Formats: sequence, structure tokens, C-alpha cells
Amino acid sequence: MDSNFELYLETIYGGFHPIVSEFLLKSFICFANSMKTSPSLLNVWFNRIERHVLVTHGSDHPWYAMLCATYMSAQIAVNTSKGLSAGDVIIQTKPMVHIICNEFKGLFCDNCLKREDQLKRCQKCHQMYYCGKECQTNDWKYHKNECKAFRHNDFHRDLFSSEEILLLRLYVSLKSDESFATKRYSLMDGSDVCLKEIIVQKDVLNNMYSDCERMLEFNRVCMYFNAFGIKLGDTQQRQELLNWFAFLSSSPSHVGLKWYSRDMKDYQYFSDKVCRAVSLEMSSLNHSCLPNSAIVTNGLSVQLRALKEIPIGEEITVSFIRLDQSKSDRREALKNDFYVFDCKCLKCELNLDSGVDYKAFDELIAEEIFSFIDKRRIDPNSWSEYDSLSSKLIPYYEAIYGDYHPFLTATLMQQSMTSRMSAMIASEPAFKWKPMLLDYYKTVDQHLRITHGVDHPLFDIFYKVFVKI
Ligand SMILES: [Zn+2]
Ligand SMILES: [Zn+2]
Ligand SMILES: [Zn+2]
Repeated sequence: MDSNFELYLETIYGGFHPIVSEFLLKSFICFANSMKTSPSLLNVWFNRIERHVLVTHGSDHPWYAMLCATYMSAQIAVNTSKGLSAGDVIIQTKPMVHIICNEFKGLFCDNCLKREDQLKRCQKCHQMYYCGKECQTNDWKYHKNECKAFRHNDFHRDLFSSEEILLLRLYVSLKSDESFATKRYSLMDGSDVCLKEIIVQKDVLNNMYSDCERMLEFNRVCMYFNAFGIKLGDTQQRQELLNWFAFLSSSPSHVGLKWYSRDMKDYQYFSDKVCRAVSLEMSSLNHSCLPNSAIVTNGLSVQLRALKEIPIGEEITVSFIRLDQSKSDRREALKNDFYVFDCKCLKCELNLDSGVDYKAFDELIAEEIFSFIDKRRIDPNSWSEYDSLSSKLIPYYEAIYGDYHPFLTATLMQQSMTSRMSAMIASEPAFKWKPMLLDYYKTVDQHLRITHGVDHPLFDIFYKVFVKI
């Protein structure tokens, strides 16, 4: 795109003008058709032109839809080059940087995420917990950059959100370790990227400048960083920190990557987010509401697993959002957080979930939460009621998630454990409930093998519960 001509037009028309928008939109259509290999550039231009079209024509104008459609069709798809079966690990990686969320600090090893009672603290700052010498040594390449800040008298962890602690680690590592900034990560679409190249767009930063709340938060972070000896003396350093502040908190497409922020979970309790992490390798995958693969974490390992047979040449997709919501809610979430306009997946296009009554589903979930979560502890008899209620949810989950999905597995597993508990409490004669539970066992076992794999801790937890049958 000829940016000189654009500048020239902007000068003549004083910034925004329908003619400038028209020129930009036409150029974008040509550009998008010819530049199929540069997702980051495509994003930069899309965001820029979007601002113009929104100002001069508004989001209801057909030109806006045309812009979004061009953008979507130009996005690179990751197609598999070999046939995959359900349960295959497509790729496996580790996050480039991670931190333990505040609520779990001291319960898990800061380096390997192992849960342990006897964790050893960093003798200097007393802020980091490790399961052993090896983990401490391995983490030192990151921690050495932040240890001094943690030692400061005014450093109190509760003053910071987990995201801000991650920002601190990311920023100081970038500043003090050139190899961290320039290490290249291969994306699945064949391109590669290093942190140094990730630049949040000016437009996003400008939006942030006008958001008082975000700026107050940023200024607070700067003030603390300064107090802890992380020098933010000149505007350039502040600008750089703002870039990473926006990177961690803004919508992924603003940096030309689609989905890089990961929650690592503790499977002992199913879904607690123990750790926040950034990994780039899978950030070129597109979204589908009926994904054929899913990202599953196990400790610090991040796996992309096939959920069904994927023939050669088919696009590999994941879901960016919660899938247990209606099409309109999904579209809203995708648009707001991921810049995905009008999801074109099969499920959305063919209304494959038109038979799912999301309202009834939401009501059941609410009833489950409000009526039983606390009651079960107090009244053991409520387990059977809880069992029959939560079993009503299973058909919904099956319709929502398809044949296999990690969330469906976790739900089936929870349901089977509830049924087992309920049967135990009812202490019915063994022959009455054993066959049903064995069926459950077989189903969950089969799902676990595909969505999580036999090495996953969930497998162990499930087996330990059921082996007592
Ligand atoms: Zn460890
Ligand atoms: Zn330390
Ligand atoms: Zn969709």
C-alpha cells in the first residue's frame, strides 16, 4: 500500500474523510489478496483502516462488512500436512514466560508448577518457591532480573495483579536478556516471530491513552516499577513498558497474533487457573465453534491435540472462547476480544446448534450452582438430587461440544464422580449401581485418552477414584 499517497490524502482532507476511507478500503482489498503470507501486516492495516471506515461510514455501512469480510478471507489457515486421528498430539510446547497466580503462590513450584508442601524459598527475596535446586537454577535466568525488585521494602505482592507480576517478569527479562527478546518461535502457519518484533499498534495505544482507568493503572505500575529500581526515566522506556502492558491486556489481533495468552490449570481441582503464561507457537490457529483440535495443559506442557480425524489439507482449528453459549453470545465474544467478525465455522453457518436451548441450559447451571454446591457438604442426601440434576446437563454438553472436547471430558468425569458418590451414600446393594458406574468408567476413560492422554494427571485422579468400586 502506498503510504505516501495515503498521507497526502489525509493532509488534503484533514484526517478522516469518506474519500480517504474509500481509497484505503480499495487498497486494502488489493493488498489483502496479494499478501497472503503476512498476518501481522494484515492486522496492522486492518486496524488502521477500520478506524477510518468507522468514523466516516459507521459499523452499519456495507463497506464496514466488506472490510471485515476481506480481512477474514485473507487470514492464513493452518492446514495439516498429514492425516491425523483423534487423540494425536499435533504439537507440544512450553510457555515462553509464565508466573503463578497470586492465589496459588507458595502452593506450587514457581518453575515446574508441581504442587508440593515443602517448597524452598529464594533466600534473597523470599518471594519465589521451588520444589528443588534444579527448578531454582532453571528459573534463575528469569528470576535474577526481578529478584532485586522483589527485595525492595515496599514490594508487597498483594499490590499487584497476577497480570502485573507477569508484566514485570516479561519487561525486565526483555531489558536484560537480548537472547530472550530475539529468540524466534515458529508459528504453525510457517512464519516465525520473536518478542522484539511484537509491536502493539499506535491506534490501540492511543485508545489506551484516552482510557483514564487503564492509564491510572499504568501510571501506578510505572510508579512502583520506578520505586523498585526498574528505571523508567525517559519517555522511550515508558513507551516500551506501555507496549507490553497493552500486549498482555489487549485483544490479541492487535499484535498480529491470534491467541497467545494461556491459563495453566491445576487438574486436582479441575479448573483453577494456577498460572498465567504466554506461548506463541499456536497463535496462528484460527477459531471454530466446532474445533477439530484443542489446547490442553499439563504442568508446564502445552499440547495441541486432535479431537477428531483430520484429513490431509483440512484446516486445524481451536476455539478461542467458551462454547457453552448461543451463537449471538459467541459472536459478541469473538468480536469484542478477538476481532473475529461473524464466525464462518460450520456450526455457525449451518446453525448446527439450533436444537440447543441455551436458556434452559443456563437455568440448569444456575440451579446447580445455587441449590447444591454448598448443600452437598451439609446434607449428604442432596447428592442424589444433585446427581439427577447434573445428569440432565450431559445431553446439552454433548450437543455443544461434539464427540470429544476437553471440557466435555471434564464434565463427564465430574458427573461420573457425582453418581458414584450418590450411589455410595445411598448404599444401595452393590449389584444395582455397579454396572452403571462401570459404563461411566469406560466412557470417561475413552474420552480422557483422546482429549488429555494417558500421561495426564486427570487420568490418575480418575483412576484412583474409580478403582475403589
Ligand atoms: Zn519445580
Ligand atoms: Zn529472589
Ligand atoms: Zn462459529
